[in-house]
Amino acid sequence: AAKAAGRDQLATFDQRMREQRLARARTVERLRGALDRDELLLHFQPLVRLADERYVGAEALLRWRPAGEAMVPPDAFIPEAEDSGLIVPIGSWVLHEACRVAAPWHRDNGAVVSVNASPRQLREPDFATQVLDALQRAQLPPQALILEITEGVLVGSGPVAEQAVRHLGALRERGVRVAVDDFGTGYSSLAYLRDLPIDHVKIDRSFMPGPGEPDPTARTLVKAIIDLATALGLGTIAEGVETAEQVALLRALGCERAQGFHFARPVPAAEAGELLARSHREARV
Ligand code: C2E
Ligand code: MG
Ligand code: MG
Ligand code: MG
Repeated sequence: AAKAAGRDQLATFDQRMREQRLARARTVERLRGALDRDELLLHFQPLVRLADERYVGAEALLRWRPAGEAMVPPDAFIPEAEDSGLIVPIGSWVLHEACRVAAPWHRDNGAVVSVNASPRQLREPDFATQVLDALQRAQLPPQALILEITEGVLVGSGPVAEQAVRHLGALRERGVRVAVDDFGTGYSSLAYLRDLPIDHVKIDRSFMPGPGEPDPTARTLVKAIIDLATALGLGTIAEGVETAEQVALLRALGCERAQGFHFARPVPAAEAGELLARSHREARV
């Protein structure tokens, strides 16, 4: 009986694997035409300077709205886009669109824009050229762009990591800034913080201390990350900030910038532009 049950379990497991593979293949098929059908759009989440709580920029976050359907969150299609290579044309669209949208924000309010770049994009031989092209077309100065990459991209000694390091080095020479996204969630050594072409670390939201109960361990970890980054001359951005207590803690620990629902959720471009303009006006009075 035990054997039969095991066989049944295996059969359902196989079945589930097959279904998952099919669902992923269907996602890729539908995503393939999404760019041409104008189903992709960007939302923007304000980036806050903690010293005075002004909005100093925004992160571009990709959204997919298939005709007549609900918005698909990026976690439900970026992995598929990455595996299939579709992230290359999509990522290029994101770069151009984010730079185009942010150009007036920068011109009028000095805002910066943050764009996520996936590992697959950094493997393209012309990635740096694509970025410079997007900036040029949008007339956005390189200093107004932050590229967000995950730590895995740069670590290791293979040709892939070397290519990525070259791209980012070239872009930084032109003034583009680089941030390590979801910092602290990877498994890499800390030595790369010293050696690699980066400017900021974005502290992953899993490090934000939970609500209510004082959490000394969480506090210790956040403090350690901020101290380390600061000692290495890197800027610090906290992500997933949801409460006033977290804001107070981050300020006390010397964190420079933050993003999170406490300040603002990701919103459509027009709304983000208004938020940035208003914050800029308030800063001047
Ligand atoms: P990320 O780059 O770490 O982006 C931050 C995510 O945290 C966003 O989710 C944002 O909506 C969410 N978030 C912001 N503040 C809070 C908060 O206070 N609490 C909580 N619980 N969540 C918060 P989103 O938009 O669903 O994006 C998820 C991930 O998808 C991003 O994580 C990024 O890795 C990826 N992604 C989004 N847009 C792009 C893109 O254009 N290209 C690439 N390659 N990846 C993208
Ligand atoms: Mg990001
Ligand atoms: Mg992040
Ligand atoms: Mg994150």
